[in-house]
Amino acid sequence: MSRDPVRPLAAAASEDGPEPHEGPVPCLHGMPLAGGPGGPAARWLDGRATPLPAVGDAEGPRLPSSLPPVIDAHVHLFPERVFAAIWRWFGQHGWPIRYPLPTPQVIDFLLSRGVERVVALHYSHAPGMARELNRYVAGICAEHPRVTGLATVLPGEPEALEVLREAHALGLAGVKLHCHVQRFSPDAPELEPLYAFCSEKRWPMVMHAGREPSSRAYPVDPYALCNVTRTERVLRAFPDLQLCVPHLGADEFEGYGRLLERHDGLWLDTTMTLASYFPVEPPRRLFEVRPERILYGTDFPNIPYAWDRELKGLLALRLPEDTLHRVLGANARALYGLPPAAGADLTSDA
Ligand SMILES: [Zn+2]
Repeated sequence: MSRDPVRPLAAAASEDGPEPHEGPVPCLHGMPLAGGPGGPAARWLDGRATPLPAVGDAEGPRLPSSLPPVIDAHVHLFPERVFAAIWRWFGQHGWPIRYPLPTPQVIDFLLSRGVERVVALHYSHAPGMARELNRYVAGICAEHPRVTGLATVLPGEPEALEVLREAHALGLAGVKLHCHVQRFSPDAPELEPLYAFCSEKRWPMVMHAGREPSSRAYPVDPYALCNVTRTERVLRAFPDLQLCVPHLGADEFEGYGRLLERHDGLWLDTTMTLASYFPVEPPRRLFEVRPERILYGTDFPNIPYAWDRELKGLLALRLPEDTLHRVLGANARALYGLPPAAGADLTSDA
């Protein structure tokens, strides 16, 4: 493949200069973090036996009717055999899955409880998997107009760019990558053509580029692969890229807050960070920095607690009404170019 002789990521790296907060201990100005202010940046699962415990919390029957339209921007859909393999892994190394539902029931579960739309994510961990998964999700989207499906690809796999082209032609709404599971750094050279494609097509990318939640069971060290500096190189090199980092960039909340201030292409989703499951306080300040860049997401069905726990955590932040409206749906609508909420149609859906 021919490539620009000046590789944009390499150029961005050479501009980095000294990063005042680079290093194992992030700066903690006003930001709570595991280990406490000034303490070591303990990994979330360090010292804890895995799998982590289930939470037997009560679940609400449906979303409160007082809420604006809710889009869950981080839901996982896989074919049954892939779900089964993922749940086996979680059951051993992560946490027990409270909702081991097949894809059609995942969709029914959320929509019947008042969620207006779900953004469906998946990822491949081996070469040659992505095409089939992408076609699977495109098929789901064709059957369920309130599912917005993203594609995936394994960075560096043969024909990676062709896989993305096909997924784009299938009508999928963006691409999801996962640094830990797919074993790459955000600023690795094999990502450049993928970033360039997404930038050119204005095709959003969701990338688990934060260090947490991490697992010692991964064959790579997420702390070696991922950090704020690496993500910023990508944002500098590809200013048109719309990049959404899940888990509010955990655990480098302070660093991702700075990136939000500097880069219009950056978005974050809340997934699992507001549910009081990990030893971390919700980083409320991020909602104040760029309220138009934060998406509500849950990781449903791969969660160990009630389906609406993340929402309860979000509401407990007592954000301004306008911010809540954005986070719960308007921001996802903007990122993915989704149609307005169906309004009256939603109330008849219960
Ligand atoms: Zn997820």
